[in-house]
Amino acid sequence: MERTFAIIKPDAVERKITGKILEKIEAAGFTIVGMKRILLSKEQAMGFYYVHKERPFYDELCSYMARSPVVVLAIEKANAIADWRELMGATNPADAEEGTLRKEFGISLGENSVHGSDSPESAAYEIPYFFNALELV
Ligand code: UDP
Ligand code: MG
Repeated sequence: MERTFAIIKPDAVERKITGKILEKIEAAGFTIVGMKRILLSKEQAMGFYYVHKERPFYDELCSYMARSPVVVLAIEKANAIADWRELMGATNPADAEEGTLRKEFGISLGENSVHGSDSPESAAYEIPYFFNALELV
């Protein structure tokens, strides 16, 4: 079993498609082991995305992530990290494959509906950024 970290991003929560995305997560065989709806401060978003701090889109990305509530998730299955990236689809919804969440729900390169850890190292940073051990069941 492997755990990864996911976010249902502001564009999706605002459009009330949280339930549709959760349904697809469970249908794909993931167990939701942690979940909460939170409103990030811009500073919290900046800490979460610190790996992108030198990128030109960093400020806009962090403002967007703090614009309205998100749903943060820890999800578990065999090969969870790669399988969740596959279900999400390419970063740019325009490049995402049919059947992926970003293809179905993404609005733009920035507002692409979902986040997923890209490696075991990033999952190990991102899960405890939002959840303590008692919140993962
Ligand atoms: N992003 C953006 N412009 C870009 C690249 C990325 O606004 O040119 C945003 C987008 O929301 C993306 C996030 O920054 O999901 C993190 O970028 P990353 O390259 O890590 O993509 P991801 O891992 O989310 O597919
Ligand atoms: Mg990434």
